[in-house]
Amino acid sequence: MPRVYVGRCPSYEQDEVDGAVGRALAALGGIRSYVKPRQRVLLKPNLLLLKPPETAICTHPAVVQAVAALVRQAGGEPVIADSPGGGALHNEPSLRSLYRVTGMEAAARATGARLNLDCAGLQVPGPSAGTVEMLDVMRPAAEADVIINLPKLKTHGLLRYTGAVKNLFGLVPGRTKLEYHARLHDAARFAEMLLDLVLWARPALTIIDAIVGMEGDGPSAGRPRQMGLLVASDDCTAADLAALDIIGMDPATVLTVRAAVRRGLSSGHATDLEVLGESLAAAHVPDFDAPSPGFSDVTLEHPGDPQATERCTGCGVCAENCPVGAIRIADRRAHTDLGRCIRCYCCQELCPQHAVELR
Ligand code: SF4
Ligand code: SF4
Repeated sequence: MPRVYVGRCPSYEQDEVDGAVGRALAALGGIRSYVKPRQRVLLKPNLLLLKPPETAICTHPAVVQAVAALVRQAGGEPVIADSPGGGALHNEPSLRSLYRVTGMEAAARATGARLNLDCAGLQVPGPSAGTVEMLDVMRPAAEADVIINLPKLKTHGLLRYTGAVKNLFGLVPGRTKLEYHARLHDAARFAEMLLDLVLWARPALTIIDAIVGMEGDGPSAGRPRQMGLLVASDDCTAADLAALDIIGMDPATVLTVRAAVRRGLSSGHATDLEVLGESLAAAHVPDFDAPSPGFSDVTLEHPGDPQATERCTGCGVCAENCPVGAIRIADRRAHTDLGRCIRCYCCQELCPQHAVELR
C-alpha cells in the first residue's frame, strides 16, 4: 500500500518549515533512508517562471532550504536544478536571475547546496512500452544518485492539476520541452510521456509544497490559496492522489493519474493509500477552485481555444514559445492561428500579463 504523509505547516517561516519537513521525513523513515553520504542529490523544485515566492508560482525556497539542510545532515551533496517554462530562461545568465528572484540563491547559501548552471541535455532510453524511445533529460539529473521531487500544488491548463508527476517535466532541458509539446500534442500522450519520466527518474522522495497552493487558472495566472500543508511520499503518484483528494478534484479527470493507472503505477483511488499524519478528510481544503471550464474541457475532448485578451501588450513571449509557430504579433497584439494551434497552453502558462484566456 503506497504511503503518504500529510502534515500541517501554517507559514513559510523557516523554523516552521524545518519542523514540518522534519516531521514528514521522520514519518517516512528518516532522511538517511533516502540519502547516503557523498551521494549527489538533485533537488527538483518547480521554478516555472522568474517570479518571487509570494506569487505562489514556484516552490517556496523555505521548503527547498529545509530539504537541502537535511540532505547535508545525511552527508549528501544537494544540487538545486530545474529547467524553467518555455526554454528561453535555460541558459547560465537567466538561471542566475531565476535563482535570485525565486529565493533559491538564498536557500543554497544557507545550506551549502549547489545551484545547477549546467544547461546540457542527454538522451537516455525511455522505459519499455513507453511513449518515447529516448528521453531527453538535463545532464545533472542523469548524473544524480538520488532525485528529490519538490513540486508546488497548482491547477494547470493542460492537465488540470500540476504536482508531483508534472513537476518532472522540468527535467527535460530548455526548448526541448517545446519539441515534446509539438510531438506529443495529444494531451493524453503528453501525460503518458510524463509517466515515462517518472519511471526513468524514480524520485526517491516527493514533498509537495501545499503551504500556499494555486487555484483557478494556474499554473501562473491563478490565485494563491493558503492551505498550510505538506504532502510527502516515496511514491510520486501516491502524493498526487492524496493532494487531489485534499483539493476535492476528481482524479479521473487528471490525465497524469489516468496514465499512472494505465501503467499499473496507481489504483487511481485515494482510499488505497496508507495516510500518515493528518487524515485526508481533516486536511480537506473546501471550495478549491478548479481551472475555468475552458481548461477542464481538455479532458472532455473539447479543448478551449487560447485567445489573447485586452491585457495583451504584444510582448511576443507567447510567439517565442509556441511549439508550432501558431502565434504572430501584429498591432501590439498576439493573434493565434487556431487551425495550427495544438492546445498545449504554453502561451497561457508563460504570458507575463496573464492575458491568454481559453474560450
Ligand atoms: S505573452 Fe501575453 S502579453 Fe505577450 S504577446 Fe503573448 S498574449 Fe500578449
Ligand atoms: S497558440 Fe498557445 S496553445 Fe496553441 S499551440 Fe501555440 S502555445 Fe500552444
